[in-house]
Amino acid sequence: MIQLIRGFKDILPGEVEIWQQIESVARQLLEDFGFKEIRIPVMERTELFARSIGEDTDIVEKEMYTFPDRKGDLITLRPEATASIARAYIQHKLFAQDPVQKFYMIGPMFRRERPQKGRYRQFYQIDAEIFGVQSGLADAQLIYLLVTLFTRLELADINAHINSLGCPQCRPDFRKALTRYLVSVSDRLCSDCNRRRDRNPLRVLDCKVPTCREALTDAPSIQDSLCDDCRADFDEVMSALDNLNVPFVVDKRLVRGLDYYTRTAFEIQTTSLGAQSAVAGGGRYDNLVRELGGPDIPATGFAIGFDRLAELFGLNAPDMIPRPDIFLAALGAESQALAFEWVCLLGKSGIRAEMDMGAKSLKSQMKRADRLGAANVLIVGENELKEAAVILRNMATKEQEAVPIDRLVENLKKRFNK
Ligand code: AMP
Repeated sequence: MIQLIRGFKDILPGEVEIWQQIESVARQLLEDFGFKEIRIPVMERTELFARSIGEDTDIVEKEMYTFPDRKGDLITLRPEATASIARAYIQHKLFAQDPVQKFYMIGPMFRRERPQKGRYRQFYQIDAEIFGVQSGLADAQLIYLLVTLFTRLELADINAHINSLGCPQCRPDFRKALTRYLVSVSDRLCSDCNRRRDRNPLRVLDCKVPTCREALTDAPSIQDSLCDDCRADFDEVMSALDNLNVPFVVDKRLVRGLDYYTRTAFEIQTTSLGAQSAVAGGGRYDNLVRELGGPDIPATGFAIGFDRLAELFGLNAPDMIPRPDIFLAALGAESQALAFEWVCLLGKSGIRAEMDMGAKSLKSQMKRADRLGAANVLIVGENELKEAAVILRNMATKEQEAVPIDRLVENLKKRFNK
């Protein structure tokens, strides 16, 4: 039997309802905050990701699904959405009328990571981006939006972590100080960290290996190296969050795996999902639009890990499998034909109706109605046809009543408020 690819997964009925519920709450909230949906392709030229995410990042170094197409052009399955959205913003000159634009997208991303619980090779993100706002208020709004979404989904155990990554003015000094420190503790760092030390030292702060975490206890903090502008910007983010009563922790270890981030970086973490604690992450990327060939326009955004959010939501979600409103149990060819017509007309009217399309005994049809969790059963047999009335049985109360065949669908529509 052919199995699915490692790290990929099916989302089956039973679970998919959780995804639908989250998606509809997220869409509503994002649109209420003025974000417009944008749909971007699943594949892009490899260069777009290599240039924006950064050559020295894990994603570009070893996680991208990259291959030559039939003409030999290198293309990549998107590992994230920001680069593509920025590309679309530049390519279609969406900044021309008004540089301030808010977009969201929902869809699959691909990274060839080591699969484990909460980490897949095809995973889904809910992504939001604000272009054209330099102020930290935009970052605060994104964090507020995330916290509001999680609250609306009734998820407890959610913590906002924030940090500032500085800017091209103040980050180089911090980088140097950090690299010096990393050299001094190199014998206590894992081989990955030592490898990253020269090319991408900030990533070392993020290492989850316990001995590395310990060795980094006295590492310099970027919070102490921020220039005046970055300090003022970060203060603005914090005071906006305070005013909105959003609890947060300043996490000087928080960095992001992508090169394009500047200033505010944030993550929403939970302790309910084991090792994969980040449910959402984001931050400011003031130089990306320019680096991709567009005008000098700042931006900020986030990505929610949809799979992790669904898992978190699923921990307490009631069973959401849709049940038929009505199951039509029909006996005899004539009743079957009539029931089939009603099932179709009821479906068209927004009433979930089911039947057995093969000739089965009443007992087996009732069993199936039960298995499907149908709220009502409509019994259509020869007697009922003779009496010109069918029997409607409420499966919870077991009450039965006769309903005239004449104008049956209209009658049922009224009962179901359709
Ligand atoms: P990133 O684009 O790396 O900032 O990731 C944003 C969010 O996407 C993370 O906080 C995770 O919740 C989620 N995420 C990232 N990589 C994966 C993955 N391989 N599998 C599942 N979720 C992921």
